[in-house]
Amino acid sequence: MPHIRLEHITKRFGKAVAVDDLNIEIKDGEFVTLLGPSGCGKTTTLRMIAGLETPTEGEIYIDDRCVFSSKTGVDISPDKRNVGFLFQNYALWPHMTVYKNIAFGLENLKWDRKTIDARVNELLEMLRISEYHGRYPAELSGGQQQRVAIARTLATGPKILFMDEPLSNLDAKLRMEMRTELKRLHVETGSTFVYVTHDQLEAMTLSSKICLLKEGLLQQYEPPLDVYHNPANHFVADFVGSPNINILEMEGEQVNLDEVKLTNKHLKLLYTPTTSSITVPKGKKLLLGIRPEDIAITDEGSIEAKIYSTLPSGMETIVKLDVDGLLLTCVVFGGVDFEIGHLVKIGFNAKNYVLFDADSELNIASGTLS
Ligand code: ATP
Repeated sequence: MPHIRLEHITKRFGKAVAVDDLNIEIKDGEFVTLLGPSGCGKTTTLRMIAGLETPTEGEIYIDDRCVFSSKTGVDISPDKRNVGFLFQNYALWPHMTVYKNIAFGLENLKWDRKTIDARVNELLEMLRISEYHGRYPAELSGGQQQRVAIARTLATGPKILFMDEPLSNLDAKLRMEMRTELKRLHVETGSTFVYVTHDQLEAMTLSSKICLLKEGLLQQYEPPLDVYHNPANHFVADFVGSPNINILEMEGEQVNLDEVKLTNKHLKLLYTPTTSSITVPKGKKLLLGIRPEDIAITDEGSIEAKIYSTLPSGMETIVKLDVDGLLLTCVVFGGVDFEIGHLVKIGFNAKNYVLFDADSELNIASGTLS
């Protein structure tokens, strides 16, 4: 089965480490997103798999064939790795029609005229751009140009498609539309997609797996919802999700085998770990992660809060709550709004509040709150 394997991949530029001992496996047909803040090593990783950048150390396998090894000196050129590229500036050839832009690569490969025609028409249909086949790039909108670029990349039927921020030049509405198209194309082509973005929402909505990097180091490599609900550490919890997760600095104290008292100067909570049993010494510094949608404004709530501000968008309202001087972000679904300064009750009814060790910042448990 074609898949990609990175073993102990490190890339140094001079003394700076861009990618640090990365080990990941991308299965056939997956949609993997390399995600992380600017400079974390996403593009470098993508370019190393594609053969456009030489790793300092490690091995890369595509389809169980070693395409790079720092030990043996193997370094297969990009054109022999059966991969396709789609980059941010998807420069189309301006003097060629849409049809010709897509057909050009196939002509170079000496496909016969009839097969080229059938393939180009298939792609024009797949990307829903048949009616523009005779136009030049300058006569197309940004989104249409992007579709032509995708068709051109897909033309030779690459088993693996690399995409580096391909939607970042598009406006918000088009980007949304193209996300839908990319997801559909991924299923339709059955190819493996490796995608770079710094946009966590894009990664969440598109990928089958997110590879989250920070300063060249892998933080977590799991499906988006696992990353969201069970973040490996404080950084991951904070990077994924909008609005951001609430992180509360607390002191812990074991009450009994399966209950921990969490206290700070604003709140006293009882935490019941549900994933693993933990032992918390008295005074242990912990970080409690509460997703905004896991705070309920309800008359049955036991904690009093004051409405600090509201941002209603029709579908949902982001509410800032003041709990005895501590500001918490909460999301209420539906077209509801609250009066600023109004007193409400809040409760914690969800099942997966995440606890991090404040020193290591690692996830130590998921649990319930009361
Ligand atoms: P962005 O989202 O800003 O594109 P990125 O996560 O893709 O960032 P990379 O482009 O992979 O990050 O860069 C990782 C690190 O390696 C950065 O610190 C960058 O400055 C450095 N770097 C990348 N290419 C080179 C180069 N050719 N020479 C020296 N340093 C480089």
